Amino acid sequence: MSEDRVITIDMLVQKILDNDKQYDVSKIVSAYEFAAKAHEGQFRSSGQPYIIHPLAVADILLDLGMDTDTICAALLHDVVEDTEATSEQLQKRFGRDVAALVEGVTKLTKIPIFNKEQQQAENIRKIMLAMSQDIRVIIIKLCDRLHNMRTLEFRPEHKQRNTALETMNVYAPIAHRLGIKAVQEELEDLAFHYLDPYAYSEIEHQMEIKKEERDQFIRSIIEMIRERLKTMHFSKEPAIEGRVKSIYGMYKKVFIAHKDIEHVYDKYAVRVIVSDIPECYNVLGVIHDMFRPLPNRFKDYIATPKANMYQSLHTTVLGREGIPFEVQIRTWDMHATAEYGIAAHWKYKEGIQGKDKMEQRLAWIRQMLEAQQTSDDVEEIVRMIKNDLSPEDIVVMTPKGDTISLPVGATIIDFAYRIHTEIGHKMMGAKVDGRIVPLDFELQTGQICEIMLSKDPEKGPNRAWLDIAKTNEARSKIRSWFKRERRDENILTGRSMLEKTLRHNHIRIPEEELGKFFAEDLKRHNCSSLEDFYASIGYGGVSLQRLVPRWKELYHKSYGQEEQSQSVIAPSSRSPKNSIVLDDISDCVVKFAQCCNPLPGDEIVGFITRGHGISVHTTSCVNYRSMLSRNIPEEQERWVDVRWTDSADAAMQTSIEVVAVDRVGLVFDITAVLTEARIPIIHSSSRNLKNGNAIFEASIRIVNRSQITSTFERLRKVKGVLSVERANS
Ligand code: MN
Repeated sequence: MSEDRVITIDMLVQKILDNDKQYDVSKIVSAYEFAAKAHEGQFRSSGQPYIIHPLAVADILLDLGMDTDTICAALLHDVVEDTEATSEQLQKRFGRDVAALVEGVTKLTKIPIFNKEQQQAENIRKIMLAMSQDIRVIIIKLCDRLHNMRTLEFRPEHKQRNTALETMNVYAPIAHRLGIKAVQEELEDLAFHYLDPYAYSEIEHQMEIKKEERDQFIRSIIEMIRERLKTMHFSKEPAIEGRVKSIYGMYKKVFIAHKDIEHVYDKYAVRVIVSDIPECYNVLGVIHDMFRPLPNRFKDYIATPKANMYQSLHTTVLGREGIPFEVQIRTWDMHATAEYGIAAHWKYKEGIQGKDKMEQRLAWIRQMLEAQQTSDDVEEIVRMIKNDLSPEDIVVMTPKGDTISLPVGATIIDFAYRIHTEIGHKMMGAKVDGRIVPLDFELQTGQICEIMLSKDPEKGPNRAWLDIAKTNEARSKIRSWFKRERRDENILTGRSMLEKTLRHNHIRIPEEELGKFFAEDLKRHNCSSLEDFYASIGYGGVSLQRLVPRWKELYHKSYGQEEQSQSVIAPSSRSPKNSIVLDDISDCVVKFAQCCNPLPGDEIVGFITRGHGISVHTTSCVNYRSMLSRNIPEEQERWVDVRWTDSADAAMQTSIEVVAVDRVGLVFDITAVLTEARIPIIHSSSRNLKNGNAIFEASIRIVNRSQITSTFERLRKVKGVLSVERANS
């Protein structure tokens, strides 16, 4: 972690004057004065005057070699948001560019810290849009974030974590993608420090151990190489420097790639910078002559640059004491790109082919924005952006030797779609290094991939490809194809996929209420009708699995009442309290008498028991009748009127007894009637009587009296049935 030091305007001006580049110093000083006045009386969480923040951001941007307008915008980046100053004032005093830059940064600043995936997607979309308009906006934002991360310790703890998370997930990957290495590594290290302080200090400690020894080792290596290179001819003396891996870089090797810290060969590296490419390969030859190279550790990123345009030769060799170390060899141009990435365009404006490189870098942003426009599922976008921003890339070649960079895990489908949309659609398969591979084959750096095309003009992608493809680009292209070509088919497929998912999750929605139930989803996915929604599902634009949890919740909310009454069916939750109305008595325990098991629709009467609340009997219950006939006044007083509530259609348990002439298939026929009437059987038994008849008894759950009446009628029609009665009544 680098120390944060307070920068004054004098220091900034001095640095500008020491710089080779031409700056408009008076404009910068004037921007400073404007900002200092606007922020007067404002303070940072650290207690320092607010102006130290814009000064620090400007200083970082100056180190990156950014231009006068960017430095001015950095000094002014918070005035519109936090002070009385307006965009119009800025435009008048500092011109359209500066005002637009400040406005862009202000917009980005307003994007809230995100924790919900969906919101995050929207925000990343906004960041991308801001980037596509003027890439300097995001470079300022990266430096703004860098200074905020440097001073994060002064923020409340919960904000620290959110900011660190956002930095690690969004800003550091963007810095990586833009190739601004110094900013990326520092952002990562700072974020890592807050996200996993324990692992951070562990690595820091381990790297401290034997530091002096290692430094000594690297110094001696540099000296040896320098002596040897002196014997050769170079157009300009090569620069040789040592470098230490960043803490987070180390963490990734040790914890993520499960490597012993001692076996991380590139934790110390020597870098040789020369004038042109032939000199790079010459130096490589010399290094391999001086030290023994480790097998499989040579990487030629000059012939096949990384996705973020990084170029270098990497090789790991064994030093004198058998200690491995990495050597990186590159030209000055490559070095500028490696260190400053897209910012090199400003730093070395005349020096290198900045325009082309900038165009190539911006192509990535355009690609991302295009992919977002065709994808309907915002959450999907976040996932894919994270994927596409993943720092690890592979480089694969076409048979003609063109290089294509893709995220790790990319398949031949991704490769085909990256070359051309039509190539993707017409792909039948691919040969990798001359061998035919399966569609889900994961490409590796250095492989040569040849796509095999179908001659059938009707040929299109397969739906299953959506699950195989790794890049957002390929998936959105496949989806657009389906969206365009197969609407009818999509509607059918989508509908059946949706029905299956709902069935699987026990969500039952009446046909006429589907529109209402999915209203929110239709809106979210820009569908104007259910058919559109089915079609979207069909072509893969909607991920059902991600929506299920919300549907379950919604279903529970909208249809929960129904579900509750269904759950009353269960004997354990059968609740007399909800189905019985007691006149003049409230808040009293109610239970159904075991002797007669009343059902809704039965005529009932309540009996006040001693200490067990009210027991509900049917008026035909033998116990009730016998007590009535005894006519004991004391008992008579305890009978109270009760009636069923309107919602007492709650199902209940009762027992039935069927007597029939015994025959093969009798039990089957009886249970068939019950099953057809959708009456659950909890328990059943049958036994033969000596007279050749059989008795079938069953505990069943029924909803109301009329259900049992109709079922009894049907049971009486079963062949051989003599009587059907409710037991216990
Ligand atoms: Mn700021």
